[in-house]
Amino acid sequence: MVGMRVLLIEDDVSISSAVIDSLEAVGWDVGHEAAGVPGLERLGSQSWDVLLLDLGLPDLDGIEVARQARAIGTFPIIVISARGDESDRVLALELGADDYLVKPFGMRELLARIRAVHRRAIAVGEPAAATELVVGKLRVDTRTRRVMLGEHVLDLTPKEFDVLAYLARDPGSAHRRETIMQDVWDMNWYGSTKTLDAHVASLRSKLGDARWIEAVRSVGFRLQEPA
Ligand code: CA
Repeated sequence: MVGMRVLLIEDDVSISSAVIDSLEAVGWDVGHEAAGVPGLERLGSQSWDVLLLDLGLPDLDGIEVARQARAIGTFPIIVISARGDESDRVLALELGADDYLVKPFGMRELLARIRAVHRRAIAVGEPAAATELVVGKLRVDTRTRRVMLGEHVLDLTPKEFDVLAYLARDPGSAHRRETIMQDVWDMNWYGSTKTLDAHVASLRSKLGDARWIEAVRSVGFRLQEPA
């Protein structure tokens, strides 16, 4: 992880200076902006490995910054926020944030989370031996991240793709909600799985038939071609 480039968008000086010190102490490059608009500009003008994003910014809401950041690139996003509300967490994760850290947090915890999302991003980017998962008419290419249903390309969000690819690795099996959350969002999830349910609902609608993803009572979900 030498030379990891982290962009921090945070207006609170005490937090940003602590974060910058800790990250630079392990030899990483840190860029810092104190507001959403310059942050997004900086994000687009250089290449970054991870974005650390505060939600309470002086110009744009961090949720909006996360949404626009997703359109700029596929780097992992960690939201750091004093807002620990479930609605904020769910919204941030739905918009493509990879992790969510509630203030105050320890610097060791932050470093561990950054390493975890970065490792995961690298693993996703590595070409695997077999990149296409086939379930009936459904073809999920994990290298190009393209999904075909018959002749049609499905337009999925990054997290919808991850959920579908996770299920497609072992079609027909019932996967636990917590395990899917842990794999796709790379986090220990002790609370609600509303985010996952929202992604499944959206996937079912894009697949055009809810039976593709069957809810398995008190377990989770299974992917299978509708009979
Ligand atoms: Ca703030």
